[in-house]
Amino acid sequence: MKKYIAIALLTLLTSCAPSNSTSPLNTTPEATEGTSTVSHSSPKVYVSIVTHVEEAGHYEENESMFNRSRKELVSFAQMLHEEGVAFNYQSDWTFLLAATKFDKGDESTNGKNFLRYFKEDLGFEIDPHAHETKYNYADVAYLIKELGVEPSNIVGGFLAAPAGDSKLDYLQNEINGNIYDYSWQAEVLWGGAVRGHQNESDIWVSGIWRPKDAENFTEDGGTLPDIGGYYNTWEGLDYLLTQDLDPNKIYTQTIFMGQANLNEEVINEFREEIQKRKSDDRIEWVGLAEVIDIWESEYGSETNILKYDGDATGGKERSDKKETTVSSEKCGDGICDEIEKKICSEDC
Ligand SMILES: [Zn+2]
Repeated sequence: MKKYIAIALLTLLTSCAPSNSTSPLNTTPEATEGTSTVSHSSPKVYVSIVTHVEEAGHYEENESMFNRSRKELVSFAQMLHEEGVAFNYQSDWTFLLAATKFDKGDESTNGKNFLRYFKEDLGFEIDPHAHETKYNYADVAYLIKELGVEPSNIVGGFLAAPAGDSKLDYLQNEINGNIYDYSWQAEVLWGGAVRGHQNESDIWVSGIWRPKDAENFTEDGGTLPDIGGYYNTWEGLDYLLTQDLDPNKIYTQTIFMGQANLNEEVINEFREEIQKRKSDDRIEWVGLAEVIDIWESEYGSETNILKYDGDATGGKERSDKKETTVSSEKCGDGICDEIEKKICSEDC
């Protein structure tokens, strides 16, 4: 249960889109062994929009709940596509299993199930996301495949701290399914959560690095690259853009949106937030696999770790960090605490 809370909140705390990338003005290659780098004349922030749907919502048992959530999700994805931004969709098992049962495709998705539509028609990235209480990463990847989409090898969320809870070692090795005869190997990590959210901001990083080990998560020296989500809200992005950024280092940031929070108003507000920033040429809207490619091809796979050190909320605790103050908009985050028991049937 605790593990599960931590990962659910991780998703909120750490928290993806095609790129409007323009070619760098300077393309002087630097001699780096086996890699190439591009000299950038101005700093870039690579922003990814990520959505999770948690395992606690038992969509696989409730077709109407699945259909309602699918409709909001498709509408959100279409808005992102209209705005020309990329998107990483990361679902745990219940919504995917529901899709294998209920999603026959309809007019809104060109007759395809929603996942194939996201991948084939909208060009979005599909990553597994697993709390692993029952279905593990390989099982979730299998369900993605069952729906006709090749799963990525990006870990869509994991426990990073404290060290005793860290899944870093576990994720280095091939994972065999608990439910299905299928195996999956992680190649890239995204985000990272802290159990109980104590000192969570300690692991909010912009940049890409290879976490050294469970004790030294935000130090480089390990194997799997991790794409930092920084402080994963629009405020976090605005804060990052106020920092002294080096044009030759990679900066990443995630805007996280929980599927259960989607409705027409939220989708419209999200569109406005994108539009406000569309003219900022420091921002590149990228998918997570895309930013890894950019890191390799333009930044020579060189580590950058910029820890969040600010107070993007102006002194107020972020609303999604308060575990005691839960509103109905938090329903669907996979957390069933004393308060949610009363108001969030889908989480309990
Ligand atoms: Zn989750």
